[in-house]
Amino acid sequence: MRILVVEDDKDLNAQLCEALVEAGYVVDKAFDGEEGHFLGDTEPYDAVVLDVGLPQMDGISVLENWRRDGRTMPVLVLTARDRWSDKVQGIDAGADDYVAKPFHMEEVLARLRALVRRAAGHASNEIEAGPLRLDARAGKVTLDGRSLKLTSHEFRLLSYLMHHKDEVISRTELTEHMYDQDFDRDSNTIEVFVGRLRKKLPGEIIQTVRGLGYKLTGG
Ligand code: CA
Repeated sequence: MRILVVEDDKDLNAQLCEALVEAGYVVDKAFDGEEGHFLGDTEPYDAVVLDVGLPQMDGISVLENWRRDGRTMPVLVLTARDRWSDKVQGIDAGADDYVAKPFHMEEVLARLRALVRRAAGHASNEIEAGPLRLDARAGKVTLDGRSLKLTSHEFRLLSYLMHHKDEVISRTELTEHMYDQDFDRDSNTIEVFVGRLRKKLPGEIIQTVRGLGYKLTGG
């Protein structure tokens, strides 16, 4: 799952990114509205954390522009404390949720998990696919009730496929959601990770759809 953080406060930006990476997300960051708008307009994100008060272009305008251009990724807006007008404007502009500053990192993480899950059409923190069960909060996958040992890359890959089970996902889409913008992307790497993941999973749970990509079957 790939997240964009748009926050001009360098310390806060770094804290958010660190917490998100620790929680297993891939993170891109921007420090002003223009850069943030550009990234959100050109890269596929599973969610965005967007500050309202930003240089170059304010957060509300960034969000309005994205929505006007049909960008539908979930957006969590960070508002200044007691600025109720920020919340109203944010929601009017198409925010999916907001957190007022100062916030506890745990709250941001919990709200993001909920947004990502809802966007993928899942009502709970746990997703099942056949013998597999993903606990998004704990960042764990079990197979027939036993914990699966996965590297962070394998976890991201499996988590993305499970959030989109029974859908055909192209290698490009997987690459875009597994790596940040600075990563040297090579779709062959995805094949290697899929190969490794398959060795840890039963039979045909991850199918190759010739010429199109992969599909995790829900069972
Ligand atoms: Ca700010």
